[in-house]
Amino acid sequence: MTVSDVLNEGRACIECGSQAHRLSDGREAYPHRGDLHAKPFWFCGCGAFVGCHPGTTNALGAPAGKRTKRGRTDAHKAFDRIWKSGDMTRKSAYAWLAEKLGVPAKDCHISFMDGDTAYRVVSICQERTEALRQAARQSKGAE
Ligand SMILES: [Zn+2]
Repeated sequence: MTVSDVLNEGRACIECGSQAHRLSDGREAYPHRGDLHAKPFWFCGCGAFVGCHPGTTNALGAPAGKRTKRGRTDAHKAFDRIWKSGDMTRKSAYAWLAEKLGVPAKDCHISFMDGDTAYRVVSICQERTEALRQAARQSKGAE
């Protein structure tokens, strides 16, 4: 594989593993988002797709399908709730999450996760949020 293949075709599709991707634009990716219509997107034959770094046709990562994208969005929300609550810094929250998932912290990027991992993140984060909520309730009761 040459460097330009890497840049232009991105990584193997998360959903099907194919590396043959076709360049299209936002009209195909997000028909209802007029603001994205002019932006380039790489499409896999299975329907998964990925956007590009601003001003380039270099893929942001591997193409992903709807379930994966939804999972990542939910994972980001659940995860942000943890560090935005002040329970942990964002950095230590990532270290905590990586440990829970059993992956190296440097590989712990929600934006690159497959659907199953993203949904694991959602439940791991929800458990912690719930545990903190209960702890807060108990310490209130003890006062
Ligand atoms: Zn695919």
